[in-house]
Amino acid sequence: MTAFDGRQSTDRVTESNINPEDWLPNFGLSGFRPGQRHVIDAVISGRDTLCIMPTGGGKSLCFQLPTIARSGVTIVISPLIALMKDQVDGLNAINIPATFINSSLSPEQQQRRLADLANGKYKLVYIAPERLRSNAFMRTISRIEIQLLAVDEAHCISQWGHDFRPDYARLGKFRERIGNPQTVALTATATSLVQEDIAKILSLENPVTFVTGFARSNLALSVETPNGNHEKDERLVDFLSQTDGAGIIYASTRKNCEHLVELLSDKLSRPFAFYHGGLQPEQRREVQEKFMSGEVPVIVATNAFGMGIDKADLRFVIHYNLPGSIEAYYQEAGRAGRDGEPSECLLLFSFQDKFIHEFFIDNSYPSREAIREVYEFLRKIPSDPIEMTLQDIKEELGLQIGTTGIATCENLLEKAGAIERLDSKNNAAGIRIDSDMRTLVDLLPRDAKTRRHVLRGLEKLVGDFRSEVVLFQPQWLADKLEMKWNAVKSSIREICKLEQVSYVPPFRGKAIHMRTRDKRFAMLDIDFGELERRKKAEAEKLQSVIRFGTSRRCRQLEILEYFGDPDRRRCNKCDNCSKKKKANPGAAKYADPDACLFAAQVGLSGIARTHGRIGKKLIAQMLKGSEQKKVKQMGLNKLSTFGLLKKLRVDDIVELLEFLIEHGFADQIETTRFRPLVQIAGPGRKLMSGAANPDLSEEMPLALVEVIGKRLGGKKPHLVEAGTDGDEGTGELEDDESEGFVLRSSGMVSENAALEAGSEAAAEAEADEELETEAEPDAEVETPEPAAVATSPPPIETVKPPEKAAKKRPQQSVAERSDLQHRELPAPGQKRPGYFWSWRLIQDGYSLEHVASVRGIDEEAICEQLYRAASEGFPVELSSVFGEACFEEISAYLSENEGLKLPSLLAKAPESIKRSHLVLFQKCVSMKQTAGSIDMNRGTG
Ligand code: ADP
Ligand code: MG
Repeated sequence: MTAFDGRQSTDRVTESNINPEDWLPNFGLSGFRPGQRHVIDAVISGRDTLCIMPTGGGKSLCFQLPTIARSGVTIVISPLIALMKDQVDGLNAINIPATFINSSLSPEQQQRRLADLANGKYKLVYIAPERLRSNAFMRTISRIEIQLLAVDEAHCISQWGHDFRPDYARLGKFRERIGNPQTVALTATATSLVQEDIAKILSLENPVTFVTGFARSNLALSVETPNGNHEKDERLVDFLSQTDGAGIIYASTRKNCEHLVELLSDKLSRPFAFYHGGLQPEQRREVQEKFMSGEVPVIVATNAFGMGIDKADLRFVIHYNLPGSIEAYYQEAGRAGRDGEPSECLLLFSFQDKFIHEFFIDNSYPSREAIREVYEFLRKIPSDPIEMTLQDIKEELGLQIGTTGIATCENLLEKAGAIERLDSKNNAAGIRIDSDMRTLVDLLPRDAKTRRHVLRGLEKLVGDFRSEVVLFQPQWLADKLEMKWNAVKSSIREICKLEQVSYVPPFRGKAIHMRTRDKRFAMLDIDFGELERRKKAEAEKLQSVIRFGTSRRCRQLEILEYFGDPDRRRCNKCDNCSKKKKANPGAAKYADPDACLFAAQVGLSGIARTHGRIGKKLIAQMLKGSEQKKVKQMGLNKLSTFGLLKKLRVDDIVELLEFLIEHGFADQIETTRFRPLVQIAGPGRKLMSGAANPDLSEEMPLALVEVIGKRLGGKKPHLVEAGTDGDEGTGELEDDESEGFVLRSSGMVSENAALEAGSEAAAEAEADEELETEAEPDAEVETPEPAAVATSPPPIETVKPPEKAAKKRPQQSVAERSDLQHRELPAPGQKRPGYFWSWRLIQDGYSLEHVASVRGIDEEAICEQLYRAASEGFPVELSSVFGEACFEEISAYLSENEGLKLPSLLAKAPESIKRSHLVLFQKCVSMKQTAGSIDMNRGTG
């Protein structure tokens, strides 16, 4: 403790003069792990912090280092007594004064530590949240300077985390009571629901959140899909016969664990042991010890095993069954290789497991009817507390849900204030005072001396812990009051006639205290919608882990993306990376990340525009601009995306679509066995809108990267430059004609041909007819309406023009822009003018704003171009250019001010009308008047 005390003797350290590196030697460390430094900086700066880091990532240092660098004590809330002891022993071993106070200590030891704490002997004190019910503890900490509250394993706060602890949920109240000190919450669970709960329940003030350290470069993740349990068993034996390191095999049920130990012991000459919730505490301890010492190097366990297991040299973790979430999977798999040495994580994936999980999810989320039945049942039981286990209730009621479902019912009833769940190890009784009045004694008759005496005692006992049951030992209270317990008890019964006081007679184990017996179920405040949302969230978690299991992309990347860890790198170690390495020796020659992103975005907009109504082959043909009969029949040639990927072969586009599906950007939904349809998924919308810009060239099959780079890319030597005649591009197109698709198959080109032929009206009428009569009833083929575009911004928005070039030569950048969008289009003799591209994008349903950003010029210039397009005979629909509301506003303004000339109109216009809009509108209207057209929405030449 000497080095430490020496530092502390200086004045209070302020944030500006703490250099975290200076304190590393105190921990015997030479550097920070990824992410630690940022979290530590945030904590030192005094902000409330949420630190999401995987198990073993080094969360402890994030509060321990700031603690010793600053003045004051840190209270660490930790759920497991065993963990506390380890941490404290570890700290003491490096001379950092820390202690824990929990029920494993005798009352004398507890008092001693409290006294030492009050006397400034400790910098860190570890407690379980239950400790906060102790008045002695609360009194002590009210006398010391608290610099930080560290809530470890903070996911225990969330009712919906996998490890909920009711006492954690009370931490918010506690934090308030001790004056809302700076707080850091730490967990390895990252779902946004849990994160929100943590911040909400602790009332964190504008917390900084760090998601960090999830990358584990020494782990080789792999997934295999054996057929049934028999193959799984074989694979397991095979794996273990080639590995002699220590490891854990996770299985979902106790039965599986025992079966596997039997099997493995039979086949391999090594000791194995199982570990699950069915073991007695001594058995558990024994298994754990043998595992830690290396006597039994391989454990087959349910997820009950591992909390607090800090065995650094595990060479593998195998999942025999599919875990229910990526969190669970990665937490368990992440126990391998803590020492940084190469280690393997194998998931034996089967869809069978998926059904089991689905069954469990259904079981854990009771129906309204089930909750009602549980409530009505409990309400009719006269005893208090009701000492029934979940299993008892389930059996009594004969409900179809499992015990987790009953637990959820109780949970909801507790939240609604109908019941309170209690847990007492040693025949405690409970008292609850629902009043903020300092004392209720005056509500009792003056001459009721005994009752007043007992009530004073109860109030002292309860202290600040109003509105919850406070447990106590009857004999202890009787001694304090210097009365016989029986006398105290009858007094309490009398006192309970006050509605603010309720009493729970002594009980043992888990019990339920009914708070209301007379409320009808319908009057309870239960959020059934919330229940539904949570259920959906759990189903989504399952979906994520399934997606992980079936993905063909780098497993590590999948994980990092799931957790939202910004540190994204491919691992080059997982099964998928290795497969790719084998299939793709060497790097792509033509790799062009921009082109890959562009192709993916176009592919996605093709998917979006077909609204989940067709399959990948047909989408590919549409994007190719195929003249196949089916494409025409379905009106796909009228889509704005028709022909946008013309330069690729249909097979390439199919591969691109498959890539998008595999990576979760799109989903394949099977309506019939033979007709899987493709629809865009959430991540796909993100990618399309530019909210995500991953380097897809890292993920795509190499051959696809090559072909895209070669045909759509900007880096190849023979790129079709903007403004050139595009000969080379044409040459490539001609190759493709051998596949039966003709050059002029782009919707755009044929549309224009119709226009040029001066038969616009006829062409449109024809098109409409085609849509209505020949299209399959389920094929929606219209381009999206502007409203739809607003919610899913166009793909091209994200492909930004080279900025420097744009500044120097804006005109050039426009040309480059259009070339990027429709590279192949400037066919010989058909070089498009700039206004055409703006018009084209507006036709595609993009807003003015989007078009302006895509084209790299301002809205005013786009409006000018649209006017130009209109005067060249291209139909311009003003209502879709401006949006319905804007269009209405301008029309109204113009009709109110009929007869005014443009300059006056501009001068008078309200601010909400943009000058450029008004100009375009007015010009088109006058053009229409000149031409004598009757369609208000359209300017024609
Ligand atoms: P977590 O709480 O995130 O599960 P811990 O804080 O218990 O992880 O740390 C896990 C292990 O990593 C501990 O053995 C710890 O000593 C070690 N560790 C933490 N930070 C570092 C570091 N910067 N350098 C080396 N080892 C570290
Ligand atoms: Mg920890």
